Amino acid sequence: MLDRRRLLAASAAGAASAIVGAPPSPVIAAAPPVGKQAPGFFRLKHGDFEITILHDGINSRKPEGLVKNAPLAEVEAALKDAFLPTDTIENSYTNVVVNTGSKLVMIDCGFADNGPPTTGRVAANLAAAGIDAKQIDTVVISHFHPDHINGVRMKDGAMTYPNAEIVVPAAEWAFWMDDARMNNAPEGMKPAFNVTRRVFGTMKDAKQYEAGKDVVPGIAAIAAPGHTPGHMAFVVASGNARLMIQSDTTGLPHLFARNPGWHSMFDMDAAQAEATRRRIYDMAVADRIPLIGYHYPFPAIAHVSKDGAGYRLHPMPFRSL
Ligand SMILES: [Zn+2]
Repeated sequence: MLDRRRLLAASAAGAASAIVGAPPSPVIAAAPPVGKQAPGFFRLKHGDFEITILHDGINSRKPEGLVKNAPLAEVEAALKDAFLPTDTIENSYTNVVVNTGSKLVMIDCGFADNGPPTTGRVAANLAAAGIDAKQIDTVVISHFHPDHINGVRMKDGAMTYPNAEIVVPAAEWAFWMDDARMNNAPEGMKPAFNVTRRVFGTMKDAKQYEAGKDVVPGIAAIAAPGHTPGHMAFVVASGNARLMIQSDTTGLPHLFARNPGWHSMFDMDAAQAEATRRRIYDMAVADRIPLIGYHYPFPAIAHVSKDGAGYRLHPMPFRSL
C-alpha cells in the first residue's frame, strides 16, 4: 500500500525505481529529453467556422503592485490556491484566428519581433497550424495596448500580415491617436503611446469599427470599456455555436475572475473595468458560452461558472477534429 508518507519518499528517491521496485532501465535512460514544447496552437470547430488559438509566449512579473485594492498576502494566497508560483506571475499572450469560410480573420497580434525574447511565437505557431501569414484577410484589434498591437508591424516596419485589412475600435483610435493627449500624457503612459505611433502613425486609413455591430460577418464587437476607453470583446457566432473572446476583460483569471472586484494596475478605469467584467462573466455563465482570454493560460479557452463571490474556469478539453 502506498500511503502519503511513502509517496513523498518515493518521489524524492526517484519515482520509477522506488514505486515499481525495479532499477531504472538503461534503455529508457538512454533517450535524451527532447527539451521543446509542442507547437502552441489549439483548434476547434465552431459551427461552420474553424477557430485556431495561437500562443505568442509568456512574460513574467512580480505580483507586487498588480492588484491595487487587495493586500499582497491575499494575492499570494490566490496564486497558491491555483497551484501557481507566489513570487512571480506568468502572463500569457493569445491571438485567435477565425476562418469564417469567406474570411480568415486574426484577432489581436501579440508582439511579433518587438517584445521580450519569451514572446513572438505566433509566426512559428501559425506556420505549425498550417496557416500562411499572407492568407490573413482581416486583422481585428481589441484595444491599443502594446501586447495586442505590436505584432501588426515587424520591427523593420513591414506589415506582418501583408494582405490584411487592419480594423480598429473607433474609440481607441480617437483616444490614442490624439496628439495633444499623447503630449500631455504622464511619463508612465508614453511608451504605450509611442507603440501606437510606431504601428499606426503612417496608417491614416485604418478602418474603424463600433460596438454592437459585426466587425466581420459572424464576429460581433461588444463594448467592454474600462481596461482602456474603447476596449472590445467579441461574440463569434456560427449556426447555434457561440463563444466570446473576452480580450483583457480580466488579466490572469486566477486573480481577476476569482476576484472580479480586484482592480488591476493595467485597467485605466478600474471601476468601469470591474462593471464590464461582471457583466461579461454573468453573460457567459447564463448563456453557458466559453470564453477565450488573451491572458488566460494556454490554450486560453474555458467555460466559467459562478463560485462564491467570483467565477471559476473550466478549461476546454483537447479533442481531435
Ligand atoms: Zn493585454
